[in-house]
Amino acid sequence: PSKQRLLVVANRLPVSAVRKGEDSWQLEISVGGLVSALLGVKEFDARWIGWAGVNVPDEIGQKALTKALAEKRCIPVFLDEEIVHQYYNGYCNNILWPLFHYLGLPQEDRLATTRSFQSQFDAYKKANQLFAEVVNQHYEEGDFVWCHDYHLMFLPKCLKEYNSNMKVGWFLHTPFPSSEIHRTLPSRSELLRSVLAADLVGFHTYDYARHFVSACTRILGLEGTPEGVEDQGNLTRVAAFPIGIDSDRFIRALELPQVQNHIKELKERFAGRKVMLGVDRLDMIKGIPQKILAFEKFLEENPNWRDKVVLLQIAVPTRTDVPEYQKLTSQVHEIVGRINGRFGTLTAVPIHHLDRSLDFHALCALYAVTDVALVTSLRDGMNLVSYEFVACQASKKGVLILSEFAGAAQSLGAGAILVNPWNITEVAASIGYALNMPADEREKRHQHNFMHVTTHTSQEWAATFVRSLWKLMEIPKVNL
Ligand code: UDP
Repeated sequence: PSKQRLLVVANRLPVSAVRKGEDSWQLEISVGGLVSALLGVKEFDARWIGWAGVNVPDEIGQKALTKALAEKRCIPVFLDEEIVHQYYNGYCNNILWPLFHYLGLPQEDRLATTRSFQSQFDAYKKANQLFAEVVNQHYEEGDFVWCHDYHLMFLPKCLKEYNSNMKVGWFLHTPFPSSEIHRTLPSRSELLRSVLAADLVGFHTYDYARHFVSACTRILGLEGTPEGVEDQGNLTRVAAFPIGIDSDRFIRALELPQVQNHIKELKERFAGRKVMLGVDRLDMIKGIPQKILAFEKFLEENPNWRDKVVLLQIAVPTRTDVPEYQKLTSQVHEIVGRINGRFGTLTAVPIHHLDRSLDFHALCALYAVTDVALVTSLRDGMNLVSYEFVACQASKKGVLILSEFAGAAQSLGAGAILVNPWNITEVAASIGYALNMPADEREKRHQHNFMHVTTHTSQEWAATFVRSLWKLMEIPKVNL
């Protein structure tokens, strides 16, 4: 039998496109989590639909890009600059992202956002409609359509309006907040109703799924069942599908000669010191200032550790044109400078803070030489960095300190030391505990997490979601 066709719809295509001429494009595939997840599932034949991240106003350019992308099984959705501004920067990143992560808006932005809310929501709906048109053009009977993330909450409804037989799944990669938070959104009901048009709705954790069901019962007055949400006899199945990583890719990378060399270099450079590691996008949700303040407190209270430990913080720049993110960057720089000034010596500083990303192999080497990884997210859908660290620790068996507010705390909680990142006294104490942990305890904790990370992979995640959608289709919907 031929494979099940899958249309994967996400805001961004897994390629970046650079225009080289009037009708020529250079494409680079980015092997993000979603791509490797679906490449690993052999029973599905996946195609990608999304925005290529560039504005292409002319028809010649659009045709050429569409053709080039087709070779990579990608189908572009073209969005003009104004829509991108209102839909992507505005509604998605300035309204939904902070709200879903329980972050308030900065005071000065609050009224401005309130005023522009309606036009941004209109642009959001319009953008989702444009995605739906492209999906509809490429849809073939029997296809599954898998919509991704907070950018496309309006999509399931648009798709079902085109064709009520379309099999539609939607998955959220961020947290879904408490219904008390969701209630504050002016478009709260419309968003919930459009997500409910999907056949299957998935979240990383059981808590997020439960928040979503409560929002539907409290805000829409619908009935929540253990299976999902029911509306006039129609059941939308709601469940948790925790994502994972392609752990083999990390484990294999550690065997490569260039990675081995890099590991050796790093070990020499930090000989005599324990290595602590943070890897985060420089985003408010990651709790980077809280992490560094906790580290400062640890150094303050433990003078004997001052020249025996180093914190390497990789802070990948993100949304650098947004004032709030610029403010966060200078705030972090200021704290790091103060601590290095306070505890540094002529030859060494306690914190190495890098405002850059690393390539995959350098990242693997860093994970492998780390003694203690420090994840202090204030809210985080899952946090894959914690999984990647565990995958690279087969020989070192280092310790993971993990925020209880990351989705990963639900799966790696038994092996990690869980902390409340707002409580820097607790985090500082956990740093001490982790650095002094005896080998047998480290081994036991590591084994627990390693087992989880290598069995709950991204491939398993994708396969489980799509198989659940498939199973739903076998059971005809009963009208109650
Ligand atoms: N990452 C990367 N280069 C870097 C640092 C991080 O590619 O220099 C990757 C990392 O391997 C991980 C992802 O960025 O897969 C971060 O995912 P996570 O779920 O931890 O957080 P997000 O950034 O999605 O909020």
